[in-house]
Amino acid sequence: QSSRGRFFMINTRKIGIIGAGHVGSHCAFSLILQGVCDDITFVDVNKEKAVSQAFDCMDTLAFLPHRAVIKSGEIKDLGDKDIIIICVGTIDNISKDRLCELDHSLKIIKSFIPEIMKTGFNGYFIVITNPVDIITYYVQQLSGLPYNKVIGTGTGLDSARLRRILSVETEIDARSIQAYMLGEHGDSQVAAFSCATVNGKLLPELIAEKPEKFSKIDFEAIEKKTTETGWDILCGKGSTEFGIACTCTEVVKAIFHDEKKVMPCSAFLQGEYGTFDIYAGVPAVIGKEGIEYIIELPLNEREKKKLSNTFDIIKHHVEIGRESVKN
Ligand code: NAD
Repeated sequence: QSSRGRFFMINTRKIGIIGAGHVGSHCAFSLILQGVCDDITFVDVNKEKAVSQAFDCMDTLAFLPHRAVIKSGEIKDLGDKDIIIICVGTIDNISKDRLCELDHSLKIIKSFIPEIMKTGFNGYFIVITNPVDIITYYVQQLSGLPYNKVIGTGTGLDSARLRRILSVETEIDARSIQAYMLGEHGDSQVAAFSCATVNGKLLPELIAEKPEKFSKIDFEAIEKKTTETGWDILCGKGSTEFGIACTCTEVVKAIFHDEKKVMPCSAFLQGEYGTFDIYAGVPAVIGKEGIEYIIELPLNEREKKKLSNTFDIIKHHVEIGRESVKN
């Protein structure tokens, strides 16, 4: 009780990170560096690694915008977390196709999601583990949490990459470009160029109006480069971590601050974009309810066709995954 006789409730913002590898550690660092949360618990099968990541993060405390507590723990310690970030996995056998991780990733999440739910956890899951659209689907199925509280990072990272590449091609700052990759966070993803804008101006119109400046822009090549850039980074350094950590931090911020921010993420589709019952990368409004609603872009026929193909690929792998989850 305060001196004025009123009770105060101070809520700390608590995060659990399962998988203290490249992605997990960078997510933690991005979160504390931006002052987005107060408390992080790392959980990893490699306990020593989780302990060391926590201490290494704690060594930055003297430089952070505000105090944070970073520790290691067990699944049973995650019951009181507001958000759990899932970034377990292994990319030891580097493969160009993220779908190859499916069986292994499903076995891992199956081993701990029921344990988490026994703790009474009732927060949000943010799923990063690949193949992210299918793993997000099964995190929701295994947890039984509402669809809006289970969010995949989806094409969030790919859309940031698209804006980065478009920025280089157009010499316009990436922050002034709104553009989305849609569908699978994988080889079949689709660039929604017809709806890309530069602060309100449709990008295709801007390009057509200024041929002297933009005549060399090749949308097909940009889409291909965006899709392949993750693979190039992975080959060069054995992981991708900075971009995904910032993508994840944006989702956490949008929830904690009830931002109602429009961002691409893997959301559960129930008729939007003409499909049902899968998680796929689409723009959505994110706030304190998690995914509050999905925004449908007015795609052209070519984009719709490609999107239908990417949805089919996700559906096919959801079915493949059903067997692994049962066994
Ligand atoms: P990593 O190998 O560096 O880290 C994975 C960690 O998970 C390891 O520390 C490992 O010990 C731990 N782990 C494995 N099984 C576990 C279990 N049962 N319980 C707890 N921890 C366990 O790999 P990374 O580079 O951090 O990548 C992690 C995942 O994130 C991969 O699936 C990767 O493909 C994915 N990823 C996704 C995106 C995206 O945009 N969605 C981007 C980058 C990476």
